[in-house]
Amino acid sequence: MLDADFFRRWMTAAAASVDREAEWLTALDSPIGDADHGSNLRRGFRAVTATLEKEAPDTPGAVLQLAGRQLISTVGGASGPLYGTLLRRTGKTFGDAAEVSQEQLAQALRAGVDAVMALGGAAPGDKTMVDALVPSVDALGISFEAARAAAEEGAVATTPLQARKGRASYLGERSIGHQDPGATSSALLIAALVEAAGE
Ligand code: ADP
Ligand code: MG
Ligand code: MG
Repeated sequence: MLDADFFRRWMTAAAASVDREAEWLTALDSPIGDADHGSNLRRGFRAVTATLEKEAPDTPGAVLQLAGRQLISTVGGASGPLYGTLLRRTGKTFGDAAEVSQEQLAQALRAGVDAVMALGGAAPGDKTMVDALVPSVDALGISFEAARAAAEEGAVATTPLQARKGRASYLGERSIGHQDPGATSSALLIAALVEAAGE
């Protein structure tokens, strides 16, 4: 079973990963965006870990809802409200349970990803974070490792796609040939989840 500590470890691992890879994420956001994805997320996840330390929420739902609120208020950019919604909806789905199973995590993340698609209007194939998140959440029913691999593959597979949502879509065909920064950060967030699970 996964408790509040597990979800805190996820957010701490996510913050560390985003910190390490911020320059890369920003570089990916240069040719098809506005070169701020890494700095946006670094600022957001630093705020998340600081708030989690200060407020010490004690259920999985409370941890993720607090983290999501923090991302929405600090990230700015398209990715802030989208990742904020992902975490808030996932956390809300847990209610006030003290522990959740891996199956419940997979179901709650599915609700979170659905909320991201409803908010942003993106579907798989539009060259966004959704391209990493959807296959990953599908694979989480199999194993954490399968979810990690699916997110990574989904991110890499955005390269030949033409963007249909977000800033990159303004470039039309010129968005082809670049890996999507948001799909890439989604793969990092899922890898951090798997790291928290100790797998
Ligand atoms: P901004 O584009 O506002 O500067 P970021 O650079 O932080 O925001 O995030 C860009 C990423 O957000 C994109 O690479 C893409 O994956 C994701 N994104 C943008 N718009 C959408 C959308 N409508 N639905 C899903 N994801 C989106
Ligand atoms: Mg950007
Ligand atoms: Mg921006």
